[in-house]
Amino acid sequence: MFFEKILNLRYTLAFRLALWYAGVFTISSFIAFLLFYLSIASVMQKRTDTGLSSEIYEFASLLSTGGMDAVRKNIDLEAQSNGVDKVFFRVLTPKGTVLASSNMASWPGVGAETAALSHVAISGAQAFTTLSGASMDHKARVVYGSIGPDIFIQIGQSLADDEEILEIIRTTFGITLALLMVAAILIGWFMARRALQGVEEVTRTATEISKGALEMRVPVKARGDEIDRLATTFNSMLDRIHALITGMREMTDNIAHDLRSPITRIRGIAEMVLISEETSGEPAAAADILEECDRLLEMINTMLDITETEAGAGRIIRDVVDLSTVVQDACELFQPLADDKGIALASDVPAGLLVLGDLQRIQRMIANLLDNAIKYTPPRGSVAVAVRDDAKKAVITVSDTGIGVSEKDQTRIFERFYRGDGSRSQRGTGLGLSLARAIASSHGGAITVTSTPGAGSTFTVTLPLLSSSR
Ligand code: ADP
Repeated sequence: MFFEKILNLRYTLAFRLALWYAGVFTISSFIAFLLFYLSIASVMQKRTDTGLSSEIYEFASLLSTGGMDAVRKNIDLEAQSNGVDKVFFRVLTPKGTVLASSNMASWPGVGAETAALSHVAISGAQAFTTLSGASMDHKARVVYGSIGPDIFIQIGQSLADDEEILEIIRTTFGITLALLMVAAILIGWFMARRALQGVEEVTRTATEISKGALEMRVPVKARGDEIDRLATTFNSMLDRIHALITGMREMTDNIAHDLRSPITRIRGIAEMVLISEETSGEPAAAADILEECDRLLEMINTMLDITETEAGAGRIIRDVVDLSTVVQDACELFQPLADDKGIALASDVPAGLLVLGDLQRIQRMIANLLDNAIKYTPPRGSVAVAVRDDAKKAVITVSDTGIGVSEKDQTRIFERFYRGDGSRSQRGTGLGLSLARAIASSHGGAITVTSTPGAGSTFTVTLPLLSSSR
């Protein structure tokens, strides 16, 4: 189980990030170490070569001042003082015949290389070689040079000390690199986990939400990084889903509530007919049932209309509609209703204002507004309808001196099924303004309300104007 968990780690992003980090870090450290090591090795070799080179110059001047005897004496002296296993000197002819030599007991099998000798003979410059072999414990650096006419010298120096230093450096680098690698894996793992913590929080929240905790939100750290942006986007998506679900729940509650009353009434009427002994009340009861059924049908049709208008905003019929005529006709249509209620209905509609749209829907929107204005205005009040051309927009206003809309209701009356507190006594479904809003926005327009409770309201619809023939 435990091993399975460890094995499964390799599929995680954090593990792969940590591995990448450790890999890149280790490789770059290794390259840096290697360059450092090579430059140290090269500096050491240069130092050895310079030392050997200056030895040759010393022997050359010794030969010219003291002759071969002085050279011989100096060879023995120098070999002894440095250690016969550390250096050797050999004076040679250009053909490689040994004229003088230090103790070569520690240098078995080391002879003169003819290629190096002929290089010195031809170019006159010094020649360097590195000796290594099975018979030697350590490598040796050897220089060949001329110290007099047809007198060459071969000087060898053991590289044991340098090799020891380089060995220490290699071991130190090896251990440091191993430690760095472990540290890099740990740091990489820690950093990757830290960076991915936000993603894990989003995942955790999503898991909780999938179990039903829709009110949960991912904590935002206000660092403004990618994870924060992910969390903010995720949260706003959740807000929207939450609002949609709440809206839908409210709507189904409303539908259930609004359908219950007419159905209860229909049921009551039917029951009355059943238990009543007289049959004379039947036609009246049937009329009541019809009326309630009509109400239900109207409500259902309006709901379908709203949905269709909202969904088909892009597919709406686009005919040229003479808005002036539509509004004028609506006013004439509602005149008798206003007269019946003792309400003065006035209109101010200039001719020739055209819009592109669906005639029937625009008619319905204006009718809904006029119907509301008359419905929510007490007798002796007045309703005024006006249309004006305002910078390529048609502005239709329906003002009344009615009961008004409270500030709290102003933001909600355009919602489906919402009915203001003061409107309960009036017939209605709470769908008229929702449909009006859906129609206005499907035509690229908008609808707003301003109102003073108790004094009246003004509903304003703006629609994009096609042209004005005035
Ligand atoms: P309904 O009129 O069927 O209730 P609407 O969607 O047409 O539904 O209107 C929603 C609510 O807005 C109404 O219940 C009412 O409270 C308020 N309202 C609409 N028009 C007016 C108006 N002209 N004056 C006062 N209140 C209004």
